[in-house]
Amino acid sequence: MGIMGGASLFMYSCKKNDAPKQNQTKEIPQEVLTAIKNQGFSTNGVVRFKDGYVVEGDIFLTDSSLAKKATFTTLKRGETEQYRTTQLVTNLPRTIKVYVSGLGTDYVNATNDAIQRYNDLRLGGLTFTRVTNSTDADITISGFYDPYTPVNASSGFPTANGNPYSSISVNTARFFQSNTPGYWAASVIQHELGHCIGMRHTDYMNRAFSCGFGGAESDPNNVGAIYIPNTLTGVESESWMLACMPDGISRSFTVYDIFALSYLYTPGQVPTPQLFHEWYNGGKKDHTLSANTNIQNLFPGFNYIGASHRVYLTNVSGTVPLYQFYNGSSGDHLLSTDINATAGYSGWQFDGTVAYVYNTQVAGTIPIYCYYDLAATDRVFTTDPNFRNQWPSYAYYGIAYYAFPK
Ligand SMILES: [Zn+2]
Repeated sequence: MGIMGGASLFMYSCKKNDAPKQNQTKEIPQEVLTAIKNQGFSTNGVVRFKDGYVVEGDIFLTDSSLAKKATFTTLKRGETEQYRTTQLVTNLPRTIKVYVSGLGTDYVNATNDAIQRYNDLRLGGLTFTRVTNSTDADITISGFYDPYTPVNASSGFPTANGNPYSSISVNTARFFQSNTPGYWAASVIQHELGHCIGMRHTDYMNRAFSCGFGGAESDPNNVGAIYIPNTLTGVESESWMLACMPDGISRSFTVYDIFALSYLYTPGQVPTPQLFHEWYNGGKKDHTLSANTNIQNLFPGFNYIGASHRVYLTNVSGTVPLYQFYNGSSGDHLLSTDINATAGYSGWQFDGTVAYVYNTQVAGTIPIYCYYDLAATDRVFTTDPNFRNQWPSYAYYGIAYYAFPK
């Protein structure tokens, strides 16, 4: 994500005046550019960094690694693709130990947040933990100070023997400034950890998707495509592995990101029950739930409330699809296991299947209650049976479905 905040800072500041100056490749020797291209990376915006080069914003290639050949595999889901390197972390299940070296509490907290975001996925094959002893570390996060480079942070891909990439460098000139809150820093570290376990940029084929520049990148050699089974419909962008991230936002996992990570690092390759997160749009008086943790970036006006409960993202035996409907004129999201829930009512659009849940209570599940405020035209789906104590304007509409506690 190198270019995540830093580069975007860099980019946005240039953009207003003249053409972006990301193309810093002029001083890079042609034989180096050829080696970078042969590895399947973009030669646009290559930056000399330490004893190597940073490409595509934040991927660090040492001088010696440029002599080798890298290959990548496409994980296809619908319209969106995730990409991984051929080298992944092996010897699963495994706990990856992360050490923060010589950086302050802010960095430690951001690292803890990034680790929590991964562990909340319950991948099964891969867990992260922060350690306070450098000799135990699989990945060491350390800082450098450079206010002039467009690099925010950098890391690399897993080693040939199945270990994660061992270091993440963060540019302390760009972290914890006025426009880089803690959740932004956590998102940057979360992104770099993604590289360390083998994820490439989601938009590597056209980095302009997230960066606004960069265009089509070179096609890696030997790209294979693996189709990840099961597909949920719905909005999909804001992947945590997009090359660029605007300053000041929090970006975490989308539903397809969860599928990609589960495919790589969960036994059985399908996601365990995932957190269903709650948002509220005060302007529209509209509550909504999603497994996509970036709703607030996709739909301005929604504020994050927190994790509510857990749902399946695949059609597990015994579950039924949970459909989402949206009424744009009243500003109301409706979740129902009945596909005809809005039949006969005007103004509703069908958004598709957003989860798989139970219609009857099975072991380990809890009821999800529905409440409705007629004046606000707002439905709430909550685990709280006493919701009306605080929100008396909402009428109880019964149990909507059963799912797992968070
Ligand atoms: Zn990156």
